[in-house]
Amino acid sequence: MREKLNILIHGEPKSGKTTFAVRKNPGVLILDTEGSSKLVKGVKREVITSMAQMDVVLNRIKSGEVTTVVIDTLDELVNNFAKQETVRKGGDNVQTNGQLTIKGYGVLRDRFLTLTRAYRDAGADVLTICHSELVEKPEGGKKWAMKLPSDYAREVMAMMDVVGFLEVARTGKEDVRRVHFRKTPHFDAGCRLVYDAVEDKRIDVLPPHVDDPSLIDVIRAYDNFFDGDGRGYLTCGACKVETATQKAVSPKGNEYDLCDKCCAVVKAKWEEETKEPFETNNPDRAKAQ
Ligand SMILES: [Zn+2]
Repeated sequence: MREKLNILIHGEPKSGKTTFAVRKNPGVLILDTEGSSKLVKGVKREVITSMAQMDVVLNRIKSGEVTTVVIDTLDELVNNFAKQETVRKGGDNVQTNGQLTIKGYGVLRDRFLTLTRAYRDAGADVLTICHSELVEKPEGGKKWAMKLPSDYAREVMAMMDVVGFLEVARTGKEDVRRVHFRKTPHFDAGCRLVYDAVEDKRIDVLPPHVDDPSLIDVIRAYDNFFDGDGRGYLTCGACKVETATQKAVSPKGNEYDLCDKCCAVVKAKWEEETKEPFETNNPDRAKAQ
């Protein structure tokens, strides 16, 4: 069995971060700090109004009641609720003008890093969503970075297995939502390599980017790596968009990884051509879903 995953997705406003979390995956619990999920139908949703509430939900996750949780969004949690809580504590955390002191910022930082760590270790797959903003790089030029103080962002990223940057890519024809899993000069991203002891090599479970992505596909890629056929993320060989869930062997003996929809199409086509029934579903991959 694989370890639980910690995934962070950041992206431009309206890039589809909440959709990424819930697409094809109604079993998630959304911890909604800013009302962004109120137009999402069919998922469990908890509106978060304080840090204390985050502690309460944490205990429900630890009890095993929740297996996939989404923090939507981290920047709102830090910049609003964690900050409010620190200001309320008062003392030498707060200046006379109501702004946090340097000590206050330290208290805030410790509070939210402790909470992030507790969620990481609670026994659920955790997706953390964060807004991005364009920031000046020290070496010149701009890049997309998490909307958090840069030292906070670095520490959060260090805790994650996967950091993805979500954008609306202009492909020339239709706009497509695309998530990147490799760092470039234009945005922060990256994922931990996993080690295959049998093959003695380190493997990227995720490709450099995925179009029309979803959290469940990312989780499935890790399930496939650890409990399935060991190959990680597979894109459908026919439509090149959906996740491959089935293996199909053509009448000529060639193997294809296909999504459910494309698999049904090729199966019908082959049966039409050969007048013989085709077994296309691969039991290993079906099990991993
Ligand atoms: Zn397909």
